[in-house]
Amino acid sequence: MSEFTIIKNYFQVMTKRHKNTICGIGDDGAVSDVPSDCELVSCVDTLVLGRHFPMTTSAYAIGYKSVAVNLSDLAAMAATPYAILLGLSLPAKLACDEWLGEFARGIGGICREFGVELIGGDTTRSDVLTVSVTALGFVHKGRAITRAGAKVGDVVCVSGEIGSASYALSQVLIDKPTAWQHTLDLPIPQVTLGEVLRDYASAMIDVSDGLGQDLGHILTASGVGASIELDKIPCIDELKVLPDNQKWQHILNGGDDYQLCFTLSEENFKRLNSINPYAIFAIGKIVDGQGIELFHKGKLIEFEIQGWEHFK
Ligand code: ADP
Ligand code: MG
Repeated sequence: MSEFTIIKNYFQVMTKRHKNTICGIGDDGAVSDVPSDCELVSCVDTLVLGRHFPMTTSAYAIGYKSVAVNLSDLAAMAATPYAILLGLSLPAKLACDEWLGEFARGIGGICREFGVELIGGDTTRSDVLTVSVTALGFVHKGRAITRAGAKVGDVVCVSGEIGSASYALSQVLIDKPTAWQHTLDLPIPQVTLGEVLRDYASAMIDVSDGLGQDLGHILTASGVGASIELDKIPCIDELKVLPDNQKWQHILNGGDDYQLCFTLSEENFKRLNSINPYAIFAIGKIVDGQGIELFHKGKLIEFEIQGWEHFK
């Protein structure tokens, strides 16, 4: 199958035209209209088969997740997703209808769900399957939520259960089927909550490399510390029954959660709870100092935070 056939048959037809797109797939570059009251938020994430995905991952899940992780980054900036560009490095044996059809269905599915258009990309042959997605979104001028705004006294929250994908991966790696496979393969980016938090949060990040490490990024960027109550971090029952250290390993160091971790003032926390239809979970407080203090049953505990790192 030629590169041009691939583009025409699978990618050009995949998503609906977005109202801000002037020129999409088919020319040398895409042309987009940035609303005059907005700023452009952009991010890129590259996924390598065997490194970011178990070799057994379905083509559908690879397509879906490579977009989902980018929409999660946009959500963490409180941006509204607009479009993606797809850099695809494809082994020859996957350039077939069976694989590409499912891959495109995964990408198209999540794009449609969030009103995102595929406006361009690049297709090359390679020995290793690599999917690099660039995502673009809009946020009203000056309203992006960064990692740098957390203040002493703020409440630290997460948007949902943490550690499920890490638990699922541990089961996949020993060939055990698990009901939590979907949290690993098909994470739901918290786009709507991210948009709501634009009016409430003081700092925000998405949890991709482990809650401990990612919260650490907020603390470093904001120049503060945090006091976290481990028992308040929401998690699935399968994790609750594990020995404490194994449980915390999944929750604090696991990663691939794609939930949001954010801080907000006590007042905004109350305000948001009174109107918000989404579940948000307070897990601790921002304090003076640096780093994370972890409490279990009211007692300070020692646990080494060690998130995902590529070049260890
Ligand atoms: P060029 O040689 O000018 O870089 P290409 O022939 O690579 O252009 O691409 C032709 C068109 O197809 C461009 O609009 C490009 O953005 C789009 N395209 C190529 N690969 C992909 C892909 N994997 N997904 C989406 N669009 C793609
Ligand atoms: Mg060109």
